[in-house]
Amino acid sequence: MTNEEKSKQLALKKAFKQQEKQAFIASLPMQVDDFHDLFENLDVKLSDEPCDHTLAHTEAFLHQQELPVQKVIFWLNQHGGCCDCEVLGNVEEKFENLQDALTVVCYTK
Ligand SMILES: [Zn+2]
Repeated sequence: MTNEEKSKQLALKKAFKQQEKQAFIASLPMQVDDFHDLFENLDVKLSDEPCDHTLAHTEAFLHQQELPVQKVIFWLNQHGGCCDCEVLGNVEEKFENLQDALTVVCYTK
């Protein structure tokens, strides 16, 4: 394989990853920033008391922020977040490295 082909493949791979991230962002029931706020909120709540294996803190946060509670909880369940600690354990990692995808979204607007 020539170097040119190699860099082409790499660019394709990168583009595919960006597309995946953008599709993920498009599937979200609320803003990425709202998710970050939710994770921070859960971090604080769960350091006070251990998870009781419900989404009580998540629900309280969503109500408080006037976010679409049912939609977000349905989405969280689909992504492995069936209680507050699972939201932090399973869902938060999906939001790592989203920042560059967001930057691209903004530039193309
Ligand atoms: Zn739990």
